[in-house]
Amino acid sequence: MSADHLFPTPETPSVEILGTSLRFPVRRIFCVGRNYAAHAAEMGNEVDREAPFYFTKSAHALCPSGQAIPFPPGTQDCHYEMEFVAALGAPGFEVTAEEAPALIFGYACGIDLTRRDLQAAAKEKRRPWDLGKDFENSAILAPITRATEIADIGPQRIRLYHNDALVQDALLSDMIWSLPDIVAHLSRFYHLSPGDLIYTGTPAGVGPVRPGSVLKGEIDGLSSVHLELS
Ligand code: MN
Repeated sequence: MSADHLFPTPETPSVEILGTSLRFPVRRIFCVGRNYAAHAAEMGNEVDREAPFYFTKSAHALCPSGQAIPFPPGTQDCHYEMEFVAALGAPGFEVTAEEAPALIFGYACGIDLTRRDLQAAAKEKRRPWDLGKDFENSAILAPITRATEIADIGPQRIRLYHNDALVQDALLSDMIWSLPDIVAHLSRFYHLSPGDLIYTGTPAGVGPVRPGSVLKGEIDGLSSVHLELS
């Protein structure tokens, strides 16, 4: 604790890194909206192919995989969104898509929990999405696999099971904006830094969870993500 701080400094949220006892400290959480055409369609939206768009979650929304969490407050319609997550390990500003891979430390399975009813109300009133997206335990993250362990991003399947039923099933190559495209685009607006996470959007098949729901998400080659709602 810093001697000149009013109260104990909040602990930096962190996540396990496979193959090491070191942990990955989380700085910021960027999330991409509508990055799979079939999911955009199921939400009644068209894909904007001119540029990706983003929302953010607080680093303190992070929830390590394998926990049982209480059903989120203030919602009657909390949805799972299975996502491929990139963890940045180097800084970058105004980088090209060709330079972007050098920023990436690793990859992980993540779940973007969403209070869909609050998000829908915000959309309708043209208000920000924060109440729908940025809340405690809303950014679930599995242990990170180093980028050097994965040859190419694209052929991997991304899947989510809700109470053992397969509800989301796609390929990472279905993403409209590739990870290098996203990193390059984001770096025009932010000085990207080690500790930044990017949730790259969810495939079709999103749906509601209930108290007692068990979620298991998989991406080929990565450690799976688990969540239980109590
Ligand atoms: Mn999402």
